[in-house]
Amino acid sequence: LLRRHMGQYDATVVSRLKAAGAILLGKTNLDEFAMGSTTTSSCFGATRNPWNRDRSAGGSSGGSAAAVAAGLVPFALGSDTGGSVRQPAAHCGVTGFKPAWGSVSRYGLVAYASSLDAVGVLARSAKDAGLVHQIIAGPDSRDATTCIDAAASRIFGPNELTQLRIGWCPGHFSGSRDVPRGADQVERAIRELGRIAGQLVEIDWPHEAVLPATYYIIAMSEASSNLSRFDGIRFTRRAGGPGKSVDAMITATRSAGFGAEVRRRILLGTFALSSGSYEQFFAQASRVRRLVRDGLLNLLERVDLLALPVTTGSAPRLDAPDDQVAEYQADQFTVAANLAGLPAIALPCGIDGEGMPVGMQLMTRPDRESLLFAVGNAWQAATDWHLRRPSGA
Ligand code: GLN
Repeated sequence: LLRRHMGQYDATVVSRLKAAGAILLGKTNLDEFAMGSTTTSSCFGATRNPWNRDRSAGGSSGGSAAAVAAGLVPFALGSDTGGSVRQPAAHCGVTGFKPAWGSVSRYGLVAYASSLDAVGVLARSAKDAGLVHQIIAGPDSRDATTCIDAAASRIFGPNELTQLRIGWCPGHFSGSRDVPRGADQVERAIRELGRIAGQLVEIDWPHEAVLPATYYIIAMSEASSNLSRFDGIRFTRRAGGPGKSVDAMITATRSAGFGAEVRRRILLGTFALSSGSYEQFFAQASRVRRLVRDGLLNLLERVDLLALPVTTGSAPRLDAPDDQVAEYQADQFTVAANLAGLPAIALPCGIDGEGMPVGMQLMTRPDRESLLFAVGNAWQAATDWHLRRPSGA
């Protein structure tokens, strides 16, 4: 629908970067309306992974991750509603940071699911990601939801950084679940991080089995409402000839302009919000979400950080058969941070048996974003995974 659309004003994140002297090179590819995990729903086609061109760069911000991994740019932006910064960062071997909800202005960002969306940074190191985040973060009078001041994030002293309590769930790497490609590398990395930064504490991950379902009901419901603004009246291409009623024009525009995945989500989201299903789906998901958030915030009273995988495997092949449910399920490690509004970072931590990068994920409390950069920095001072490049880059 927005294929030829040019933004008519700068987003706050863009004007802040320009004011700081950044040179903006262009827009990068992503899944249509950021709905997806592989960029295959983009109307421009899929982004290939610089590490192996038969594989996806991940998504939805696959173009941003590929551009950083290939060395085209030192950093790129992306939005993270359920993992779209962290997952492509992990698949492309770069660092991806998702801020706390309310930390970065979304003025000028196309809304997907407003209670989950956050503007994040993809960069070659935690240090670079932190520098960019500092520039774009902070209250903005044009976005009343900027309620967290990154500058007020508690700074941890060097001594504290070796005495952290890091919660992890050994069940992520063994037990009944299918242990995915790359799990060994993540488990090893978490153990090593424990030695570098303090001690590991075993925890149970709250409500783990229902995270993707909860996320997708909420994300699709909010999307069905947010995307109703794309109606062919302003901004977008209009379908249908003269003489049609307004309703017929809007229907024709939306049917012609939205791709299959976006239409599916609008339909499912509208269903979840409809009067016969609201209680069973949207309201129920909202209650579960509160339990997830309370559970994670409680854990973060006992530990400083939570460490876990980013993805359930390395980047998928682009010719893999379509399995939408499996694709949704694969977001199980990233959506918790969005449901709870927590900041999270994806750090390169290994290469799997097929030569593809693997990432580990750290989360913390909303008022401690700076801890993620500090620990990421310590991890990258002790390891060189973030320095590995795909051949040719
Ligand atoms: N894969 C998730 C989805 O399709 C995440 C997308 C995102 O963070 N924008 O909704």
